[in-house]
Amino acid sequence: MEVQAEPELDADIAEIGRSLARRGHSAAALKRVPQERGLNLVGRDPKVRAALLQLVDVAPACENAADLAGHLNSYLGQVGDSGGRPVAIAAGAARVPGTRALTGQAARVAINRMAHRFIVGATPEQAAGELRLMWSHGNAISVDLLGEATLTEAEGAAYADRCDRALSTLALDARGWRANPLLESDAAGPLPRANLSVKVTALTPLVRPQAPGRGQRDAAEHLRRLLRTAAEAGAHLHVDMESMDSREMVFEMLLSILAEDEFRSGPSAGLVLQAYLRDSEEMLDEIIGWASRTERASPLTVRLVKGAYWDQEHIEAIQHGWVPPVWSEKADSDRCFERITRRLIDAFPLVRPAIASHNLRSLAHAIAYSRHRLLGIGDLELQVLRGLGDDLAEALARDGYRARVYSPVGDLVSGMAYLVRRLLENTSNDSFLADRAAGADLDSLLASP
Ligand SMILES: Cc1cc2nc3c(=O)[nH]c(=O)nc-3n(C[C@H](O)[C@H](O)[C@H](O)COP(=O)(O)OP(=O)(O)OC[C@H]3O[C@@H](n4cnc5c(N)ncnc54)[C@H](O)[C@@H]3O)c2cc1C
Repeated sequence: MEVQAEPELDADIAEIGRSLARRGHSAAALKRVPQERGLNLVGRDPKVRAALLQLVDVAPACENAADLAGHLNSYLGQVGDSGGRPVAIAAGAARVPGTRALTGQAARVAINRMAHRFIVGATPEQAAGELRLMWSHGNAISVDLLGEATLTEAEGAAYADRCDRALSTLALDARGWRANPLLESDAAGPLPRANLSVKVTALTPLVRPQAPGRGQRDAAEHLRRLLRTAAEAGAHLHVDMESMDSREMVFEMLLSILAEDEFRSGPSAGLVLQAYLRDSEEMLDEIIGWASRTERASPLTVRLVKGAYWDQEHIEAIQHGWVPPVWSEKADSDRCFERITRRLIDAFPLVRPAIASHNLRSLAHAIAYSRHRLLGIGDLELQVLRGLGDDLAEALARDGYRARVYSPVGDLVSGMAYLVRRLLENTSNDSFLADRAAGADLDSLLASP
């Protein structure tokens, strides 16, 4: 079928984007205004940003409020005059003995609130109530058990155990959720309610790009076990994508395991494609080739993201004198994201497209294109991160779309690295959310990249 002329598609994209932006002003969104102001303050000045991120990082290790205030004072002391009056007042209050403990307590409350915004609960059991609520508000979920890169094989096995238990707990709990056909099926068949995202570098410490074999064997055993549990529980297992160090190994391992006879009948599973990589369209060719050769009961879900490791990939390549594997201009990542979005939508139901972004243009483009291709409304999935895309998820649900909220679960300590990453993302110079928070004009944000 011919794609309609671009001007027509662009008009639809602008209309969908504006409608989503309007609907984002919910009561819940207004409650978050003080936190948004905080994030804006963090984003405006690189020195303030660095100071507050250092504070977030050190907070779990602080013994008491005065200790935290001491760190606050020392970090803000490095900011100098550029921080302005609020920073000078906070640094002063953290220094003076009479107000030090109180300032430390206030900082602790603010950090905990911020962490809670991004993390659903400390354990799957503790997160159960919030996940049920999100489902009842019309959003699907994917749980991510927080845990940074694993250093020993025992840590990898412990993470696999946690994932295994989480799959069973989630699936059991999800049986009590209210029926919602949009979240539970598409034209390709049923969609599991319970959905877990896992990271391969948390399953094994042995990921080495030069010697992928050992890491692959170690991770593959854990992955097979999780796939078995997911199949028994009727859950979906999604494998996140990390930096280039592990990409080839993860792709190869996952696709070859999913093609094994044992896993052809299930479970539902998925992977992630990063559009900021220059070769992402070739990866898509491989995925689509694999999907057409491999008969499985449920299609592979492909979560399309831009990619969360841009600085790391860029800096590492420059240091070695290599051409960076990532695009250098954000507009190139945005355009690549749109090209892959279209190809994924065109490929449904061979694969299930799951378009993950907080960029209204990227999401509106996916919705408009899927409409032009006459895809059913439930045949396109949109995904956001908890804490960054809550308003969008609500707006998408109200407009009748399936939005899945990626929901981290973990304690404050393991959550801090995650929190720092997300705060950096929200305040990075080249980001839709930062531009929007800085008051950029909506029409220009919705324009073709
Ligand atoms: C549900 C969900 C799951 C996710 N899972 C993963 C995952 O498994 N792996 C992963 O890597 N990421 C993952 N992410 C994060 C994602 O990759 C992005 O970092 C994040 O969503 C920001 O992109 P955006 O489209 O929302 O915002 P935008 O503001 O439109 O895009 C920001 C992104 O543009 C890219 N960019 C920024 N500057 C430049 C530049 N100079 N040149 C080229 N590109 C640039 C970067 O990728 C940056 O993250 C996930 C995101 C979501 C919503």
